[in-house]
Amino acid sequence: MSEARDRPEVVVLRIGHRPFRDKRVTTHVGLTARAFGASGIVIADFKDKAVERSIEKIVRVWGGDFWVRSGDSWREVVEEWKKRGKTVVHLTMYGKSLQGALSELRGKDLMVVVGSEKVPREVYEVADFNVAIGNQPHSEVAALAVFLDRLFEGKELHMEFKGGKMRVIPSERGKRVEKIRIGGA
Ligand code: SAM
Repeated sequence: MSEARDRPEVVVLRIGHRPFRDKRVTTHVGLTARAFGASGIVIADFKDKAVERSIEKIVRVWGGDFWVRSGDSWREVVEEWKKRGKTVVHLTMYGKSLQGALSELRGKDLMVVVGSEKVPREVYEVADFNVAIGNQPHSEVAALAVFLDRLFEGKELHMEFKGGKMRVIPSERGKRVEKIRIGGA
C-alpha cells in the first residue's frame, strides 16, 4: 500500500476532547489514525495546540502527509463533509456490526467519528452508519484501530511514510533505527 492518495480519503473526527483530561488519549487517537492509514484528524470544538504539535512532531520525524486540525465545530465539520456527498461513520458500542457494514463502506471517502465521555444524541442521527466494534465498551483508540485495519484489510501496515527523518529496521530484539539522509536513498 503506497501512501499516495490513490485510495479513498478517510478523515477522523474526534469529538468531546477535554483539553485538561484527554491530551494523551486524543494524541493516541491521532497517532493511531495516521499509523492505520487515515489522511488526517479534526479535533472538534477545542483548539489544542499541544496535541496538534505532538502529532505533527511524529509526522516530521517518521514521515507521511498526515494532517491535524483542532477547534472547528463538529456540526460544521460533519455538515461540510455531508454537503460534499461523503459518508459519515460513527463508532459506537451501540451500533450495528462492523462486519455487516464493511462492504458498503469500502471504496468511499469516510469521516470516522469517535467520542470521548458522552456522545450527543445528534451524532447518532447525523451519521450515515453507527458501527460497533463488538457491543462491549472499550476505547476510541482500540475501536479506531480495529475499524481502519478491517477497512484496509491489513494493507495499511505496509504503507510507506515518505519524507521522514527516521526509519525502523525491524529486528527480532532491541531497537534498530536508521537516519534517512535527505536526497539520498
Ligand atoms: N458510553 C460512551 C458513549 O456515549 O458511547 C462510551 C464512551 S467510550 C470511553 C469513548 C469512545 O470509544 C466512544 O465514543 C466510541 O467512539 C468508542 N468506542 C468504545 N467502545 C466501542 C465499541 N464497542 N464499538 C465502537 N466504538 C467504541
